[in-house]
Amino acid sequence: MAIAGYVVGATKGFIYLRGEYKHLQEPLQRDIDTMRASGRLGTSIRGAPGFDFDVEIHMGAGGYVCGEGTAQVESLEGKPGRPRVRPPSMVSVGYLGKPTVVDNVETLAHCTEIAVDGGASFAKRGTKTSTGTKLVSVSGDCERPGVYEYQFGVTIGRILQDCGAPAAVTAVQIGGASGVLVTPDEFSRRIAFEDISTAGAFMIFGPDRDIFEVARNFAHFFAHESCGFCTPCRVGTAIQRNIMEKIAEGRGSNYEVNDLKRLAEFMKRTSHCGLGETAGNAVRDALNKFRPAFERRLRARDFAPAISLEAALEPARRITARDDADAHLDVEG
Ligand code: SF4
Repeated sequence: MAIAGYVVGATKGFIYLRGEYKHLQEPLQRDIDTMRASGRLGTSIRGAPGFDFDVEIHMGAGGYVCGEGTAQVESLEGKPGRPRVRPPSMVSVGYLGKPTVVDNVETLAHCTEIAVDGGASFAKRGTKTSTGTKLVSVSGDCERPGVYEYQFGVTIGRILQDCGAPAAVTAVQIGGASGVLVTPDEFSRRIAFEDISTAGAFMIFGPDRDIFEVARNFAHFFAHESCGFCTPCRVGTAIQRNIMEKIAEGRGSNYEVNDLKRLAEFMKRTSHCGLGETAGNAVRDALNKFRPAFERRLRARDFAPAISLEAALEPARRITARDDADAHLDVEG
């Protein structure tokens, strides 16, 4: 952060620490104090006049959306963590209206290595288009969960092997709740920008996992984490959760299954930020790759609705001259 501050001429940096990681606040503060005491933070860093930079830890309240840069800056300013409307971008108008750089700790840590050893040395690792290394946070059904560092281009199979995953893994969710669900026939795929790009989350689901339940859990997660700022996500994530509940209770049909697909597409196209755009990914992937897990819960696969909502809305559409496809979503909550 100090190097980044030196490059852009900033004198103040914040580490935004999510509420869930409060246990890290004290050791992190100790490290910052040690750096200040040894002249690596503060004024005239390393004796260089004018090189002033200091770091403050800011505790977040634990909102998933605060991983989005503009929502994070809103939260830093003491406001609810809601994504801003852009433009202007953060680099022009950010924290307290000042130009702001928002990056992951991992990215800034790489800066140190590049500053010390040079870009060519860093680029020796990884693939041609994805240079360097990636931290992968492995969790779920395996013997050795934890944070692993790999060169870009590592296969999913290799990670599973290293962390002691069972032989018959059902699926891996890469990139967290908003990422992609990968099945065993895809385990030769690579973690890289040209294949599967990820912030690093790697969740393993063993042979006994029911992928419908996994998707249902993600649906609840997004309904809970939506910040409520825009309608497609606020309402869409709630409808998605309700449909998953309906199917779980044995009251669903193919009609609901099709609605889930349309809803995922609708949220992707119309949501204000990445949370809503990706809120339907996990359910959509589960549907595409584990359809039987849904179908065995359906009351009737060939169910046809008793009325056509589209037809019922037709007169109102004509009166208001609204003929756009999204004007009347025929999904039930
Ligand atoms: S997409 Fe969801 S999280 Fe993002 S601004 Fe809209 S309501 Fe908030």
